[in-house]
Amino acid sequence: MISREDIRELAEFQGDGADCAISFYFQPAPPSNKSHREQTILAKDLIRQALREVEKSGRNESARADLQRILEAAGEWKGTRVRAKAVFACGGRNIWRQVDLPPQLAKTQLFVNRRFHLKELAVLLGGQPRLWVAFVDRHRARFFALHLDEVKEQEALFRPLSRRRGDGFAGYDAGHAERSVNDEALHHFKSVAELLKQGLERGTFDQLVIGCQDIHWHDFEAHLHPYVKKRLLGRFAAEVDSATDKQVREQGERMVRESLAQHRHEQVREVLSQARSNGRGVTGLRRVLRSLEMGEVQVLLMGENYSAHAVECASCGHIDAHMVHYCPVCGRTTQELEDVCDAVVLAAIRRDVELVYVKDEPEFDHVGSIAALLRFRGDQKKGGMAVAS
Ligand SMILES: [Zn+2]
Repeated sequence: MISREDIRELAEFQGDGADCAISFYFQPAPPSNKSHREQTILAKDLIRQALREVEKSGRNESARADLQRILEAAGEWKGTRVRAKAVFACGGRNIWRQVDLPPQLAKTQLFVNRRFHLKELAVLLGGQPRLWVAFVDRHRARFFALHLDEVKEQEALFRPLSRRRGDGFAGYDAGHAERSVNDEALHHFKSVAELLKQGLERGTFDQLVIGCQDIHWHDFEAHLHPYVKKRLLGRFAAEVDSATDKQVREQGERMVRESLAQHRHEQVREVLSQARSNGRGVTGLRRVLRSLEMGEVQVLLMGENYSAHAVECASCGHIDAHMVHYCPVCGRTTQELEDVCDAVVLAAIRRDVELVYVKDEPEFDHVGSIAALLRFRGDQKKGGMAVAS
């Protein structure tokens, strides 16, 4: 499993003259599809082609070794019909990361560059929160983690059925027994809610889905901590005993998908309205780059197929939407970027900026398909302070 820190480390990487960063994404055919073998053959062709190009350029022994190693690895993926793969390699710097991914990549791709190509990884991981699915009834609870298509049962909570009605506790009238059963259920709900709160505090999950019968939901929900409730994507009716991985995956993925679409839509509304009111929002590449450089950006929104030319200063890292030969910041020569997205994605990952990929929002495309929500706005903050003093 790849962590945020791993991705940031990859984003920090910058190859110098000799070292290439190789990024390889492999998308398998769906399990029902007979063309799986073809997918592997296609992937191998892609790698061999890159090998020829590297060899033709007559340089870089380590890139050749990396590609050879990826080719060998790809040969072993025949059996993996359900997993997509990503490999990031730079032998010259001792970097080799192979990652299993849910099979949701657009296609198989290979990049040989000065830096790693992380957009696909960022898109995919951005849509994959660490999710817990909790099944709860009056005396049991089971917790499943769902991340990157993988389901793992975490822990369970069972309250022993000690003082249930008819257990032979002489002297208990029916009403008393009923009350004690209810008390036990409420205690149990409380412990489950506490366990969820601790899980969230420890960072074991980002979001939560609950499987619980309608008749218990009201009582249980009342015990959930407000922080936990904020992370709750939804609830479905389910029994604790019969909980399955399939159920976890289906319900979990559906609710994540719906909440992501909703979140995306709200972020687009927000950034457009903020940009219109000259508030905490900017649109268009030039302004987004400037805000990113100033460390103002909280959320970066980009059209799914957005692409643009730009230049980058190899010396200070400044990115400019104008195709200037000399860096306006430090005066050194600039390099052309075929697609500014790569550099923007890396800058966002390095600065811990949330990345949102936007699709099907015509209004967003009208403002240039790139925008940012800001934490604050440097120029306005200064103005505000001046007025106050
Ligand atoms: Zn510069």
